[in-house]
Amino acid sequence: SVLVSLKDVSKSYDDKTVLAALDLDIYDGEFVTLLGPSGCGKTTILRLIAGFERPNHGQIILAGEEITQQAAHLRHVNTVFQSYALFPHMSVFDNVAFGLRMEKVAEPEVKERAIQALEMVQLANLAHRRPHQLSGGQQQRVAIARAAVKRPRLLLLDEPLSALDYKLRKQMQNELKRLQRQLGITFIFVTHDQEEALSMSDRVIVMREGHIEQIGTPRQVYENPKTLFVARFVGETNLFDAVIQTKNNHHWTLTLAQQNVCIKARTHLAHLAEGQKVKVLLRPEDMRLYAPADRQALADQPCLSGKVIERNYKGMTLDTVIALEQGGQILVSEFFDEEDPDFDYRLGESVLVSWVANWEVILVDE
Ligand code: ADP
Ligand code: MG
Repeated sequence: SVLVSLKDVSKSYDDKTVLAALDLDIYDGEFVTLLGPSGCGKTTILRLIAGFERPNHGQIILAGEEITQQAAHLRHVNTVFQSYALFPHMSVFDNVAFGLRMEKVAEPEVKERAIQALEMVQLANLAHRRPHQLSGGQQQRVAIARAAVKRPRLLLLDEPLSALDYKLRKQMQNELKRLQRQLGITFIFVTHDQEEALSMSDRVIVMREGHIEQIGTPRQVYENPKTLFVARFVGETNLFDAVIQTKNNHHWTLTLAQQNVCIKARTHLAHLAEGQKVKVLLRPEDMRLYAPADRQALADQPCLSGKVIERNYKGMTLDTVIALEQGGQILVSEFFDEEDPDFDYRLGESVLVSWVANWEVILVDE
């Protein structure tokens, strides 16, 4: 069932429109992520839901009740910010217990619930410490325990991991997901990091300049981006100009401009016509490199030829950039395979680029 709805919500500061006629439903128990570049309005959405701001227009509904004008402290919503905002003079335990004591919860229950919340984030053994005696990741876990102890229906998390270093961030991503499942609380998580959004969320809401560009599961957003913006923002992207040739039942055939190569592609777009100019999205991991001598073996497979101009070893993958003979370049990302003697192409070497799936995504120009 729907837990939070934004209905036709607009927000502006002075003359500047920050959110325009936004419609959004978030379901009970979901882990939803707002993903978009800095300044696109993510924090503003959280502040409207939390009640720190009022919309200029539209309604906010929480658990079936309209709360558009309701005071923040009356909403069953808690927020975790990027800056942990712990009370420095209080112990970890007192930080977590604070909200319950404010609500005049009886002390034995405060103890039980605060300890439980700290156990959940695996910090019960550090309950007596002061915040400055903890690492950044531990402080962030205290902030999460402090928000979760009040058992809100909804937890808003505004870039809570962006100040942490890479390894800790990965670890906290897993812990947050586990915690969310365990608590059964709906999470609205904000990030500008597409990898973080894809790996954590049930659904991703991709935002751009105050509007929603696409909503979907991580796979839908990655594999079927609806716009060039989403294609570019979510994941590494090769975009080529192409012209539609023919339509079959299940796919379109199109020619890559400049490249004189015909490929097949799928699309959810309804209004394509033969001869139409489009863009086609080739994900780097859908492409493979071959030695020029393999051209016979590739037979009727489409392929592009070019020279290696960049090689980036990424541990799991080797990312190679090819300058194409007919103009333009393409990024190819292959799993590292030391068994494959052909794998180790050198800078300047001639290679063929071909398709693994031969089944790409068509996008129309903005
Ligand atoms: P995000 O969190 O996606 O980076 P924000 O929601 O913080 O974006 O901000 C969206 C836009 O609204 C930005 O252009 C920002 O400058 C503007 N903005 C946010 N808060 C205020 C405010 N209190 N007064 C004026 N402009 C604001
Ligand atoms: Mg923000």
